[in-house]
Amino acid sequence: MRREGCDENNAQMTDFLCDFCGGTWTEDLPMVEGHKGSLICGACLREAYRRVVVLGENSADEGYACALCLLTKPEAAWRSPATGSTACRWCINRSATMLAKDPDSRWTKPEA
Ligand SMILES: [Zn+2]
Ligand SMILES: [Zn+2]
Repeated sequence: MRREGCDENNAQMTDFLCDFCGGTWTEDLPMVEGHKGSLICGACLREAYRRVVVLGENSADEGYACALCLLTKPEAAWRSPATGSTACRWCINRSATMLAKDPDSRWTKPEA
């Protein structure tokens, strides 16, 4: 998400916030963008991937709407304890694949 009141025509890195923890985009904290400017940071993505993809957990409320693709899906998802935003399994997988491919992110998929 964008910081409230930020200048859309002159957005700085500090204007980009993770929807799942409120963290700011930095060189050390890569972000993946979803629809409508939604963002998930590398730290939240690591936790989401570990829980949903590696461990097969589901912490989402029934009938949730994914903050990244904006869809309501029947599949497992991760609900952030910090902000209550939810990421579906599909978006977690897609974001993890994108971030792992980006050499600058130095991000790798968590193992079991
Ligand atoms: Zn985050
Ligand atoms: Zn999604």
